[in-house]
Amino acid sequence: MRVLLVGGGGREHALAWKIAQSPLVEHLWAAPGNPGIAKHARCLDVAADDADGLAGFATAHGVDLVVVGPETPLVAGLGDRLRALGLAVFGPGRRAAAIEGSKAFSKDLMARHGIPTARFATHTEPAAARRYAREVGVPLVVKTDGLAAGKGAIVCATPEDADAAIARCMERREFGAAGATVVIEEFMAGEEASFFALSSGASVLPLAAAQDHKTVLDDDRGPNTGGMGAYSPVASVDARMQARVMAEIVEPTLAALAAEGAPYQGVLYAGLMLTKEGPRVVEFNCRFGDPECQAILMRMEEDLVPLLAAVARGERLPAPAPWTNAGRASVCVTVASGGYPGTYETGREITGVLDASALPGVQVFHAGTARRDGRLVTAGGRVLGVTAVAGTLADAVARAYEGVRLIHFDGMHYRTDIGRRALGEVRAR
Ligand code: AMP
Repeated sequence: MRVLLVGGGGREHALAWKIAQSPLVEHLWAAPGNPGIAKHARCLDVAADDADGLAGFATAHGVDLVVVGPETPLVAGLGDRLRALGLAVFGPGRRAAAIEGSKAFSKDLMARHGIPTARFATHTEPAAARRYAREVGVPLVVKTDGLAAGKGAIVCATPEDADAAIARCMERREFGAAGATVVIEEFMAGEEASFFALSSGASVLPLAAAQDHKTVLDDDRGPNTGGMGAYSPVASVDARMQARVMAEIVEPTLAALAAEGAPYQGVLYAGLMLTKEGPRVVEFNCRFGDPECQAILMRMEEDLVPLLAAVARGERLPAPAPWTNAGRASVCVTVASGGYPGTYETGREITGVLDASALPGVQVFHAGTARRDGRLVTAGGRVLGVTAVAGTLADAVARAYEGVRLIHFDGMHYRTDIGRRALGEVRAR
């Protein structure tokens, strides 16, 4: 099989690593890839959002399967564009990807179909947004309607915080056009979990749950980031909870999209709050989470390619794979540039990646790296995802941090508590 992977971050490195292990794969290309992906795929000088370049390459090289990693090209309609050329694409079309691309669309879809989520309203006028915030009461959450790299949700503890958040989104436009429309919603208390399911249009397959760590500092403090670490499985999403999430959230959402003319082919990422009343949706994403993908794929023993291909071809998916219950736990620790998620410098030399990767059960997935004069240097905010798998979460955490300690670059920082709350090593807040 000839496979084209679109993207060049840590999630795509994990996908490339997993796809390249499949005996079904003859050729793997990545657009644009990164220095880590280059070990598993031929990297192309084609950007992930260059729809013409991707379409041209895929048709000219007889690509059998296109796997789209990031959300931006999906939200822009890459899936439809490639499918119109007869290509098999893992990733939803533009209308279905709006479940992530527009929070207003996603919240309205949930409201129309009775899918459990926080009470909300969508606003385009700051004054009306402020009035609604007063009516809902604090705590509440102000969210940009459009994509904001995981940073567009502001939890507000006081009415003044809410006013300030509305001003940042709608008046100061700190998130650009994404904040012209805001969603204001009630705060949901509970434990968060990310849940992943594959949908081919013909059937649905639950994959696994993972726990993301969004804030930059230990103990869930500091500003939100794209993701500072993740682990899988999550104890609170046991078989019973998974069945509930599938029946109450995933299946009705996919049915709702299909009923509205937007059938879903790809991975549906449900960001959940496990409240006292049951699981409720925080948000949906139209692709694998980054860094949840790294953790989940490390746990998976089965070949991923037949599943990706079945999704892309709209075929029936197999029954749930045994790996989701297999006794393997994994953790991914993000190593970031100094200053991230604010401004940061790049071009710092990275050492120790090979040593860390040589540890048993450890993979170092590249996110923001580049090669310069034969040296590996930093090229982004999130630089590496040090990922480990073991028989228990405690061993996976120990292995991942052993790997992190071997890596060095000027200004590097990381959270020291990824997976540790689940181990009872740090108190739940
Ligand atoms: P989102 O961009 O919608 O994923 O939100 C980012 C983060 O903000 C989530 O992972 C939650 O930690 C928090 N959050 C968002 N919406 C809510 C809500 N309604 N109640 C509580 N926390 C929320």
